[in-house]
Amino acid sequence: MSPQASDTEPSVSETLEFDYVIVGAGSAGCVLANRLSADGKHSVLLLEAGPKDTNLWIHVPLGYGRLFKAKSVNWMYLTEPEAELNGRSVFQPRGKVLGGSSSINGLLYVRGQHADYDRWRQRGNQGWGFDDVLPYFKKAEDQQRGADDFHGAGGPLPVSDLGHPDPLSAAFIAAAVETGLPLNRDFNGTSQEGAGFFQTTTRYGRRASTAVAYLRPARHRGNLRIETSAPAERIAFDGRRAQAVVYRQGGVLRTARARREILISGGAFNSPQLLQLSGIGPADLLRRHGIDVVLDAPGVGHDLQDHLQVRVVMRCSQRITLNDIVNSPFRKVLTGVRYAAFRSGPLTIAAGTSGAFFKTDPRLSTPDIQVHFLPFSTDKMGEKLHAFSGFSASVCQLRPESRGSLRIRSADPAAAPEIRINYLSTEVDRTANVEGLKILRKILQAPALRPYVVEEVDPGAKVVSDEALLNYCRARGSTIYHPTSTCRMGNDPLAVVDQRLRLRGIEGLRVVDASVMPDLVSGNTNAPVIMIAEKASDMILGDAR
Ligand SMILES: Cc1cc2nc3c(=O)[nH]c(=O)nc-3n(C[C@H](O)[C@H](O)[C@H](O)COP(=O)(O)OP(=O)(O)OC[C@H]3O[C@@H](n4cnc5c(N)ncnc54)[C@H](O)[C@@H]3O)c2cc1C
Repeated sequence: MSPQASDTEPSVSETLEFDYVIVGAGSAGCVLANRLSADGKHSVLLLEAGPKDTNLWIHVPLGYGRLFKAKSVNWMYLTEPEAELNGRSVFQPRGKVLGGSSSINGLLYVRGQHADYDRWRQRGNQGWGFDDVLPYFKKAEDQQRGADDFHGAGGPLPVSDLGHPDPLSAAFIAAAVETGLPLNRDFNGTSQEGAGFFQTTTRYGRRASTAVAYLRPARHRGNLRIETSAPAERIAFDGRRAQAVVYRQGGVLRTARARREILISGGAFNSPQLLQLSGIGPADLLRRHGIDVVLDAPGVGHDLQDHLQVRVVMRCSQRITLNDIVNSPFRKVLTGVRYAAFRSGPLTIAAGTSGAFFKTDPRLSTPDIQVHFLPFSTDKMGEKLHAFSGFSASVCQLRPESRGSLRIRSADPAAAPEIRINYLSTEVDRTANVEGLKILRKILQAPALRPYVVEEVDPGAKVVSDEALLNYCRARGSTIYHPTSTCRMGNDPLAVVDQRLRLRGIEGLRVVDASVMPDLVSGNTNAPVIMIAEKASDMILGDAR
């Protein structure tokens, strides 16, 4: 499938040496590995905790449903009991495989709003305003519709239109327009507001993870070495200079020294975990676990943010949903054959077919809610689809105020960290979710969808008052898989990295992944992480000159 790991195992005593050592071959790490090794001048080691991406379901778009609970490629984290979600722990899948979460995600290509990046700049992060980051979105992109003011063509990352526009998803858009939302052909163009079809990171009906888009073309370079099933356990320091990465492979501890820099791209949960295990984090926490403090950095693991999603399930009057296909052995086989022969049909469906962005309060300048529409329904993602004909749409508040934390539980690198998101812990967040549900319901009741609707199954007609809707959010709300900001970029005392993503107070160490976002963007997070890694590559190579 994609990149080959090296066949030559180093001996136990061997210490490898490279210009750059990258920890984590996820959305960000694969971009870095490609860009930093491209001119052949630098040697690069890419370490990935998980295996190669040989699981066939990775490459079939709808296969993400099979990967939610696939232990072989997924860290499968759980949050602590969430106080505002009736004490429920929320399941948090994360890719543990070449491509990282881009190998198991929902494939939607949404960058967020221009204002997100301008806000980053306003918070003092020079060089991260929308005009600054747009060239990097374009550089990454191979847009099926061609290049324009907002899009690039010819980049490594294919961005494609939906291969399988079904009548329900189109009816959702028409219904949203009937309620007064504008039709939007491009959520990544001039304005995000409105309803339309999503674009996906796919090509010819196959997933384009960063392992496929960035690593596969680079894998034969003599100056790039890729090691899989090789979790980094800690970073070794000489004073305050990061020197080497200690990792475990085949039961053996190995050391890789970095002549220039170590780049941590383990994602929003694992990057702060690795820093804390290495002695960079809140000093009291580290001491409690017997870890020598290299740098007291209280911001490491602070400010964890995530998007909550609350789903509405509808019973459909026609047997045209994915539920009907999955529940019919004959139609299931037909769908498989269609995909195998033409790479088309329902197996090309991503985590949303159509969607909408709207404001719950007209005084807002940009949308605060994203809706993902899907022509199927289930109680929980990754579990069986309903036996009845059904479809669903979820509300996702785009800029939550709630903040959580990530802290190690022990000095054992194999122990899962303690994850607290604190969903719905502010009034603004609770109100946005309730108001978002009310607006989504209006769309689902609009004329264009009427021919397809029997009834609302969840939350159901009896759930009407604000209080009842909030209770539904508490009982059923779940993640939409966008944790960020645990090693936040900024200038304040809790900021972990500076605007060049260098770890404050440490030499030779950068963090490059979703954890550096100053705050969560108003959309899906894969495209923004790839942009961050494209920009980081330029900065790293610039600093090497
Ligand atoms: C189920 C799911 C659905 C999603 N759907 C979408 C979507 O439709 N659209 C969208 O834009 N975004 C989506 N996302 C979010 C998006 O995929 C992530 O935000 C993005 O991939 C994060 O990139 P990253 O580089 O920060 O981390 P990751 O891509 O998670 O990469 C981190 C990598 O580091 C490795 N690693 C971690 N620790 C170590 C260690 N100690 N040693 C070695 N390797 C290590 C991991 O195994 C992993 O491969 C989804 C995510 C999930 C999980």
